[in-house]
Order: sequence, then structure tokens, then C-alpha cells
Amino acid sequence: MLGLMQDWPLLVSKVLDHAATYHGDQEIVSRTTEGPVERCTYKELHSRARRVAKRLEAQGIKKGDVVATMAWNNARHMEAWYGIMGMGAVCHTLNPRLFPEQLVYIMNHAEDQLLFVETTFVPLIEAVADKLQTVKGVVIMTDAAHMPDTKIENAICYEDWLAEADDDYTWPQFDENTAAGLCYTSGTTGNPKGVLYSHKSNVIHGMLANAADTLGLTSGEVILPVVPMFHANAWAIAFAAPMAGAKLVMPGPKMDGESIYELLDGEKVTATAAVPTVWLMLLGFLEENNLELPHLNQVVIGGSACPPSMIETFEKKYGVEVFHAWGMTEMSPIGTLGRLKGKHAGIPWDEKLSLKAKQGRPPFTVEVKITDDEGNELPRDGKAFGHLLVRGPAISKSYMKGEGGEILDDDGWFDTGDVATLDPDGYMQITDRAKDVIKSGGEWISSIDLENLAVGHPDVAEAAVIGIEHPKWDERPLLIIVRKEGTEVSKEDILSFMDGKIAKWWMPDDVAFVKEIPHNATGKILKTALRETFKDYVLPTA
Ligand code: AMP
Repeated sequence: MLGLMQDWPLLVSKVLDHAATYHGDQEIVSRTTEGPVERCTYKELHSRARRVAKRLEAQGIKKGDVVATMAWNNARHMEAWYGIMGMGAVCHTLNPRLFPEQLVYIMNHAEDQLLFVETTFVPLIEAVADKLQTVKGVVIMTDAAHMPDTKIENAICYEDWLAEADDDYTWPQFDENTAAGLCYTSGTTGNPKGVLYSHKSNVIHGMLANAADTLGLTSGEVILPVVPMFHANAWAIAFAAPMAGAKLVMPGPKMDGESIYELLDGEKVTATAAVPTVWLMLLGFLEENNLELPHLNQVVIGGSACPPSMIETFEKKYGVEVFHAWGMTEMSPIGTLGRLKGKHAGIPWDEKLSLKAKQGRPPFTVEVKITDDEGNELPRDGKAFGHLLVRGPAISKSYMKGEGGEILDDDGWFDTGDVATLDPDGYMQITDRAKDVIKSGGEWISSIDLENLAVGHPDVAEAAVIGIEHPKWDERPLLIIVRKEGTEVSKEDILSFMDGKIAKWWMPDDVAFVKEIPHNATGKILKTALRETFKDYVLPTA
């Protein structure tokens, strides 16, 4: 027997309808690419998004066509995003930090038909334009006054283009499983693979993000997603904020400490989210200028491991609660978030910090388990670590065009490539990426734990650990350090700082100092590049 409830497809256009109808006067504040901070409302954004949809149809874009954006977080990107998805096309967010060859590969692979691009990235597109096989037009996201001189053929000025359509447009209704968004994984090996979100998965994931134990956005919240819309839906915020009617503050191209502080303070931001490197810049700026964060209540940190020292600084020095989160592009992306449970109220700070340093627990609709190499499930005791597998309605079942073949096992589990522990309360802790873990004498050493510890030293700006071949132990850890400017910290200082805080056999065999650690397009340490740089390194213990 079927239920007798209404057939109301979960389409992302409904999210913006809701925001415009019930939170029409709520603001979206954007630092524009041209410089000034501008304001609009959900009602205005709704009108402009429908104009985008109508104009796209006039352009000949059809349901299922892929339309790319290479854009910062701002209102224009939001209206293009909702316009594209709302009319049934697929919004392919491009990461401008990709290498040009990767960009060409993914744009051709996705068969992008039309490209919206910020003026910032016009030179990048000019350099690859002749290699783009499917793109029929390029819309430059600015007004006539700021239109750059460009060699791109058929370049169109966004505001002129949009002026040709009014907002007399009704969103089409279609199957909620229709593709809505496309985001390629930044993959450190092989070609990037396309993760194809559906309307339904985006709506479910937005609601999951708004659950009180996840981001828990409300209409009273002022949220600043520093995490880009091109990095997996700005971690759901592009959907969750309009669903909740939260005020959105968009940082545009400026993500340095000073610019983020200006918005946090000026717009009285209450919640924000980004990768640890962004927060390093902000904390450095606050410290240098003796500033406070009186309005901010919560900061979500994920994308790579958040060192406990960062959690401690935010919470103890600035009174801002940190939620460590973990996820992946393939998971829309939220997988876990580290809110404590009621029973943890009043636990001593040290215990609280070790719990908060874990990556958190899964919200409803995300299932997680850990297994050994043979696929046997391991105990949820907080000690056993194994391959982390996930399942849920906002998690990929296959990559675009079937690249990479079958990605689910017979029971529908997706192997994240991460190694983790799970405790009886569901808190998950990432030990490492499976390929980054250091295999020493048949045992595993977590590179993340060593990095977290090393960055706790006051003179260390950044740390990375890789395994170096060792004649006796297979691999031993090499600690690679970027010193804070103006400091002269030595190998001995760092090793004695770490001594006693970890098992003796986990201690790095050597410390190398570098000026810079390479990062990939989403800000993660590029261990493949480090392994290449240090491939002939001989450890003093070898
Ligand atoms: P991406 O698809 O680019 O978002 O990358 C996903 C991967 O980033 C995960 O599989 C993890 O290896 C890593 N990652 C994300 N969040 C965290 C975190 N909080 N701690 C450690 N690793 C993380």
C-alpha cells in the first residue's frame, strides 16, 4: 500500500522560493570582485535567479545541459547557481586553483556548454579557450563598466545578458533525482572525477546541515561561508542558509585574515566555516592587531585535520566554539560534525578537547563503519582503526560517466580512502588517508597526529609528515616544518617538544625545514609532491 501524501519533488528551486516567500527581506552581503561590499535580499536574488533561468532558456540551454561557473562566493554566483539548477540544467562549479590541464580535462569531460566566469579568471580562460571543445559562450560576471578587454571569442557581459530577460518565469517541475550540480574531486592521483549531485540529494543534505546537532542554522544566524561554493556546495551552506532564512555574508575574492575579520566584525557574523589554513591567517591577524571576536559563536573547521591547538585558541582566547567536521566532495560533503552530547556537559577541558579534536559524529542520513583489509567490520571502541566506509542518500553511487567503475560494495558502502576509529558514541577520528599512513615495522603511524602535535609548537607555522623508506622498518616518519617568520626553531627544539606526548616509536626520525609546503586546489597538503621532493632523502637512522 502506498502512502497518501503529496508528491512534492525535492527540487532546489523550492529552497529559494521558500527563502523569498518567508525571509524575503533577509540580506545577502557580498564583497564584490570589483571591491565594494554590496547588499541584496532573498527576494531580489529569487527574482534575478529566475531571470537567469529564463535567459538561459533563450540562449538555447536545455534541461540536462551542463553550465559551468568559475566564481567567488557572492550573490551573483548564488543567482546563477539557482538559475542554472532551477531550470533543470547542471551547475558545474569549477575550482580556479586547478592546473590548466586539469581544467581543460574536466570542462571537456563534463561537456560544459556555457561558462560564467569572474573577471579575475578571464586570463586563465583566455589561456585555455582554444582547447575547450564544447563551450559555446562565455559570460563574464560583471557589468558593462567593468567589462575587461578580452581575447575570448563570444564573450558576453553578464549584466547586459541578464537585462534581456525579465523574471516572469515559473520553475519547471521534474523528477527530484534529476542532476543539479557537478563538482570534480581534486584527486591527487589520476584525473579528477565528477561527483554529480541530484536535486533530492542537495535538498536532503541541506536539511541534514540544518539539523540542530549539525550546523543548525536559524533565521537569526549570520553565516559567512569562507569555504568556496566550488568546494562541494560551500559545505551545504549555499542550500542550508536560504532554507533557514539565515543572513549570508559572502567573502568574494578576499580570504586573508584582515578581510575576513572586517566582515566578521562589520556584519556581526555569528557562524562561519573554512579549512584550517584560512583560520591560521585570521588568528595571526587577530594576534598581531590585538583584536577580539565578540559576535562570533561558532566556527566549523574541516577539509583537513584541525589541530587541537587551534581549537584551544578559538575557544579559550576568543570564546568561539569550534566544531570539527569531516566530509568529502562525494558526500555533498558533510559526513560528521563534532558537537558534544548532553552527557558531556561539565567534563574537564582536557577531555573536552580530545573529544573536540575528533572529527565528530554522523548526522541522520549518514551511516559509517570501519573495516579491516578483508572487509570485516571492526569494533566501535575508539581504539581499533580501519577503512572508513559510508552510506547515505547524499553520497555518490558512481562518478560522472562511470569513471573509476563500481565504487560501492555489494551492500552499498563507499570506501572513503580514509582510515579512522569510531567510538561507542559515534565519534569518528581520522587516523590518516590510507595512502598517507606510515607503515613502520608492520604497525601504522598517523601522519595527522604527528602534524597536529608539531603545529602546537609556538614557532611552527605548518607541518607535514611523510613516510621515508627505511631498511629495517620499511618506512619511518620525516617531519617537514615551515617555521613562523622570524623564528629559528631547531630540530632538537621540536623533537623535545614532542617527546613524551606520543609513543616513543612514533617520534619522527628526522626534521626537515622548508620555506613552503605545497597544497592542492582545496588547500590540502599535497603529500604526493612532498614524497617526490624527498624521494632520495636518507634518514639519519637508515
Ligand atoms: P574533498 O573531497 O576535497 O573535500 O576531500 C575529502 C578528504 O579530505 C577526506 O576524505 C579526508 O581525507 C580529508 N578531510 C576532510 N575533512 C577532514 C578533517 N576534518 N580531518 C582530516 N581529514 C579531512
